[in-house]
Amino acid sequence: LSDRIQAQAELPTISTDNCALDLYINAGLSAELESDHFNQGDGVGLYRTEVPFMMRERFPSEQEQHDLYRAMLSVSPDKQITMRTLDVGGDKPLPYFPINEENPFLGWRGIRLTLDHPEIFLVQVRAMLRASLGLENLQVMLPMITSVSEVKEAKRLIRQAFHEVTEECRGTDNRVVMPKVGVMIEVPALVYQLDKLAPIVDFFSVGSNDLTQYLLAVDRNNARVAGLYDSYHPAVLMALQHIVDEAQRLNVPVTVCGEMAGEPGGAILLMAMGYRRLSMNSHNLLKVKWVIRSVALADTHQLLERVMHYEHPAAVREAVNAYLESVG
Ligand code: PEP
Ligand code: MG
Repeated sequence: LSDRIQAQAELPTISTDNCALDLYINAGLSAELESDHFNQGDGVGLYRTEVPFMMRERFPSEQEQHDLYRAMLSVSPDKQITMRTLDVGGDKPLPYFPINEENPFLGWRGIRLTLDHPEIFLVQVRAMLRASLGLENLQVMLPMITSVSEVKEAKRLIRQAFHEVTEECRGTDNRVVMPKVGVMIEVPALVYQLDKLAPIVDFFSVGSNDLTQYLLAVDRNNARVAGLYDSYHPAVLMALQHIVDEAQRLNVPVTVCGEMAGEPGGAILLMAMGYRRLSMNSHNLLKVKWVIRSVALADTHQLLERVMHYEHPAAVREAVNAYLESVG
């Protein structure tokens, strides 16, 4: 099987009835840039910038961040690299920036923290913009957005950084381009504000890991309730369907970058719903490509229509697995 999967590495991601998808990778470590999988993807759909922050003993300087981001952006100047601004808090602590909270997943994390510390945000965005000089493949993504006002505030800071870097480039050949700015759809509150967001963002990216956690009120890392954490829960599937329908209606590009996109069953359900961009850990990319190349969109529609009526995530999983087996 793995030889068959490997043999498709260079082929397009297209179903048997010609539905084409773009597959991106989720990255966090610069080592991932050297993997073959990077070249097999259509770009980076999620660069978790907090990973290098977590591996240090202090905040990386603007120059250190610049060097990391430059390395990432310049590997494939023709591929989009979506860099998420710092998403610490919750389950991602920084050893040198302790946060003590009773309920960290509902607390100070992601954009909440960086809007309270605009100096951290500005340094990071400046580093990204400087790293993108001469390139045009940077996209900036905002994590843990709950309200439209947070997007506006973050965009104001991004514009400020843009003007600063533009000013610094005066008299040189360098020209800064304003990156596309998008938001993670991972707090359920956003599911009901997509029309308000559409005019002010360039793309949506669904964080199905947190969206599942928050929709189901189940801690994604708590073993005791792990059995309740399931992205095949009917409420999650309905939310995912609603998001892609709205994104299409509003003409906003949408990606899924949670773990579900990297699982064969999750990927085909998402494809059936209408998603055409999936971002996943690089080691899942060829497997997902292989599955998509093995199925017909029309058949996945039938499967989706059936499982959308199921009450139990386990029944959905069973039906999806039976379908996957039927296609080999
Ligand atoms: C998500 O929440 O689905 C996501 C992709 O982000 P993270 O797993 O880093 O929270
Ligand atoms: Mg998340």
